[in-house]
Amino acid sequence: MKYKELLAPLDLGHTSLKNRIIMGSMHTGLEEERGGIAKLAKFYAERAKAGVALIITGGVSPNFRGRLSFHSDQLTFPWQLRRHKPVTQAVHDAGGKICMQLLHAGRYAYHPFNASSTDQQAPINPFKPKMLTTKQVQNTIKDFAKSAQLAKRAGYDGVEVMGSEGYLINQFLCSRTNKRKDQYGGDIKSRAKFAIEIVKQIRAAVGTDFIIVFRLSLLDLVEGGNEWSEIEYLAVELEKAGVSIINSGIGWHEARVPTIATSVPRGAFVEWSEKIKQSLTIPVSACNRINNPQQANDIIASGQADLVSMARPFLADPEFVLKAMEDRADEINTCIGCNQACLDHVFSQKRASCLVNPTACYETELAAVATSSKSVAVVGAGPAGLSSAVTAAKQGHKVTLFEARDKIGGQFRLARMIPGKEEFAETLRYFRVQLEKHNVEVKLNHKASMQELKAFDKVILATGVVPRKPEIEGVELANVLTYEQAINQPERIGKNVAIIGGGGIGVDVAQFVAQIGVESPSLEQWQQKWGIKDTSAAITIHNDKKITILQRKSSKIGKGLGKTTGWIHRAEIKHLGVIQKTGVSYHRFTEDGLIIEIDGEQQQLKADTIILCAGQTSERSLADAFDAAGLNYELVGGADVAAEIDAKRAIRQATEVALAI
Ligand code: NAP
Ligand code: SF4
Repeated sequence: MKYKELLAPLDLGHTSLKNRIIMGSMHTGLEEERGGIAKLAKFYAERAKAGVALIITGGVSPNFRGRLSFHSDQLTFPWQLRRHKPVTQAVHDAGGKICMQLLHAGRYAYHPFNASSTDQQAPINPFKPKMLTTKQVQNTIKDFAKSAQLAKRAGYDGVEVMGSEGYLINQFLCSRTNKRKDQYGGDIKSRAKFAIEIVKQIRAAVGTDFIIVFRLSLLDLVEGGNEWSEIEYLAVELEKAGVSIINSGIGWHEARVPTIATSVPRGAFVEWSEKIKQSLTIPVSACNRINNPQQANDIIASGQADLVSMARPFLADPEFVLKAMEDRADEINTCIGCNQACLDHVFSQKRASCLVNPTACYETELAAVATSSKSVAVVGAGPAGLSSAVTAAKQGHKVTLFEARDKIGGQFRLARMIPGKEEFAETLRYFRVQLEKHNVEVKLNHKASMQELKAFDKVILATGVVPRKPEIEGVELANVLTYEQAINQPERIGKNVAIIGGGGIGVDVAQFVAQIGVESPSLEQWQQKWGIKDTSAAITIHNDKKITILQRKSSKIGKGLGKTTGWIHRAEIKHLGVIQKTGVSYHRFTEDGLIIEIDGEQQQLKADTIILCAGQTSERSLADAFDAAGLNYELVGGADVAAEIDAKRAIRQATEVALAI
């Protein structure tokens, strides 16, 4: 059997897990939706059925003050059990185990009733907390125990106590947010009392036949975070207090170090799980940027951890474990760490889903309609065309995919060339395997004509976009490149570079240009770059090109980027020394640069190469021909809407259209 160590059972004493794979806690948004519980049950059950050993739910607060937001989940009263029972029942029926995560948000709670170890406001929350009195601290500990007891009554196999990511327990643990004068403040022994008491009281309340996972912050990544000796002390005490599994937590939410984004090297934080494991006898779970079975197996086989916890990979592919078990890892739809449809949604109070798998959290809504097999033509093999083709073929339709270029991939082929976005190649691998598995006929180097398309029952046009050429004098000069030309022919890029447009692609291209000819950083260099081990040693890795990025708006460059990842890209271009100019008017491009105006002042900007990242326009010539002939077709992706062309929208739309055939 492949992935032997990953798929081996784990004995926890009173019970055992069927393999080493935990589906980590994720808030989906279904928890608060009307009618969401049945959908949530289905979402979890699909993953349990496909082999996940242990699921951990999104955070549930033990009391009102600890709720993440005003409407978030809480388990304090027996009448609240009815919201949980359908979930535990569905997971058990599917052969899985499930723990409820107990999360008190402390000063991260997004409402005016929040409370913490401190009255100091979090930099990421507009609501200032009240400092809990000693009596309130003791009552909060009791609330955790009571909630765990109720979780047992709801049928959960255990609880995970959220002690990391900067939430309440973490706030008590670190001097950054704990300057208390009572018994819960002071040295680590006092600061750790809150966490240890919670575990002791939970254990006393639930007995020995109940799993207690503790999510321990192994690396706070903020000033005033704990030293390793303090973390080690806590881990040992937690084991004594009755914890069954230590799960790894990395970085507070307010930390300015990326911990889960695409650009974080795979397994970047596993060494901290390995380190804590040396001090413990209970199992330790590794997490963060683990997204494929081989990597997960290596972690277990090498003894770095006993379990791996993955969250987003189960949005991307509910059958991750099943495919690993059946040695079909090349069929896994890999999480690319983009955060665009999961975390960015949750932080905007929208239901989570997945960019590469729009059916995630829509299991009961985005389902195929059973119809007879039809012949389907899909034109264009970018993300939208690939999704339509594969979805239609999976339903039994006979699909032909036409692509004018010699390769599939469209805009994703460009994205995977950007340093830190190499994961996008996994999505193309997934589609390539699916096209073959579902017998899609792929015609490359083939510009489909209306004549041949007429023969199909259904035509889906996913002809994509072309880079916009703004109407600026000199735009046709040889030193002016589109972003597509620049990425495909980096040898044409000179030393002095001006980038027109500061949207997602402009920022990506700046990162690309600054790293032409530079070897990808090693894990150690990456850690050094972000000051993870030693802040004083932060380094930058780039070539000697001088890059200026320009935009007409006066807002900051990259302002419209993803909620949870935009700051990383903006920090990256700052690290790389990219010059940023906003509020620019373009007068003309010349052979040695461009003439611009800022604040009414005309300037000449020297540039050997000018790269256009000024958005896109839809490629609709075929759609126009269909319109003229009065023929039916479906238009998806960038060919439909080019403004802010967005892979999340394109893939979802393409999937919906194909499901409705
Ligand atoms: P975009 O975000 O719409 O940005 C286009 C840029 O071009 C803007 O800065 C705009 O700024 C400028 N522009 C537009 N028309 C212009 C004109 N006629 N002349 C000169 N400048 C012009 O589009 P994009 O950068 O092509 O990105 C496409 C989509 O992909 C976006 O939704 C983006 O968020 C997404 N994306 C995201 C990421 C990421 O999250 N990291 C990476 C890549 C792409 P001014 O109008 O102010 O000059
Ligand atoms: Fe992963 Fe992106 Fe999907 Fe989130 S949206 S699960 S980060 S691929």
